[in-house]
Amino acid sequence: MSTHACGKAKKMISKKMSSLVKNNSVIRMMFEEGQSMAKEFGPENVYDFSLGNPNVPAPDRVRDTAIELLKNEDPISLHGYMNNAGFPDVRKKVADSLNRRFGTSFNENNIMMTVGAAAGLNCALKALIDPGDEVLTFAPYFVEYKNYTANYDGVLNTVATDHETFQPDLKALSDAVSEKTKALIINSPNNPTGVIYSEETIKGIAKILNEKQKEFGTEIFIISDEPYRELVYTGAEVPYVTKYYDNTIVCYSFSKTLSLPGERIGYLVIPDEAADHEDLFSAVSIANRVMGCVNAPSLFQKVVAECLEEKADVDFYARNRDEIYNALLSYGFKCIKPEGAFYLFIETPVDDREFVEEAKKEHILVVPGTSFALGGFVRLAYCVSHETVVNSLPGFKRLAEHYGLC
Ligand code: PLP
Repeated sequence: MSTHACGKAKKMISKKMSSLVKNNSVIRMMFEEGQSMAKEFGPENVYDFSLGNPNVPAPDRVRDTAIELLKNEDPISLHGYMNNAGFPDVRKKVADSLNRRFGTSFNENNIMMTVGAAAGLNCALKALIDPGDEVLTFAPYFVEYKNYTANYDGVLNTVATDHETFQPDLKALSDAVSEKTKALIINSPNNPTGVIYSEETIKGIAKILNEKQKEFGTEIFIISDEPYRELVYTGAEVPYVTKYYDNTIVCYSFSKTLSLPGERIGYLVIPDEAADHEDLFSAVSIANRVMGCVNAPSLFQKVVAECLEEKADVDFYARNRDEIYNALLSYGFKCIKPEGAFYLFIETPVDDREFVEEAKKEHILVVPGTSFALGGFVRLAYCVSHETVVNSLPGFKRLAEHYGLC
């Protein structure tokens, strides 16, 4: 903040950013708190379950491919600008891999490489949303959806889920869709619940949106946010949404699948069946440019193209999940067993923010459910070392005793 000659304080930053600065992400703040606690008490004595930062290394093939590309490819084309949508050969490889795995029929003109799912979601929203348009999502939801929608002066409204299963409440969806609804963001496997939306759920959503499109004479898009598609346990299936609903944009990311969150790489899928497919594809490509991404990182486009059927060690997460889920249940906590992603959404015996503060006394960091638009729960990210899980358990037991759960 600077000061006018008259001595009055003058705000330098925009109103939009002022409110973001004021309400900085609770998750990010907890992460920073975890780092300062680690300095104070020693990292081995702090159990930081706040951030979804993978703890499993990327598959060896990622490193080997990157080294090979750096050694053998022409550096001018490897590091150069390309089409805003990404390298055509990379997009073709992504399309072929999806067709092989999901029986779809995409080609390179259906795929745009993005700077992770975050930029993919922003490109999709920028392409679709006019000021005042409405975006729906099911609560609890990934906090950034609200900020991303606000970037384009859209309005994010939430729709309830069943709090036993965390599957979407379809009646509530039907009631929530209006003439202003431009998009519904879904996320399965889900952050923060770990739930996978069943085929029946996806069909139910598609049916409602098709009916509403007819009723209002509008186009309503499903934006399917899929960073956790490959992180599933015991053979659970994640339905491929474009097969059930034409107006779909898939936002995929390699951040979790290949443990590459810092490299910022993902893609959008826009099927031919989507309304105005060609204009929509041009719009997301131009959005990529004018938002300042320009194109997805060139080296990592080439790397992931050779690693499309690879994934990080899901068994590592499964082991953590089983250990902490079974222990928490035995202490009297309640939570749904996650089928995918790497989060537990635990019901709290008191207000979630109060529970978070109590947990900190045990050096346990978890995120309040209110940050995901659903109080009475906390999110625990178990993408941490197995020792962190094991060593945190006595603290969780003491918390359960404190609240009379066991
Ligand atoms: N969507 C969800 C549900 C997420 O949990 C995350 C990251 O944690 C993202 C999107 C952003 O992922 P990316 O790193 O690909 O931008």
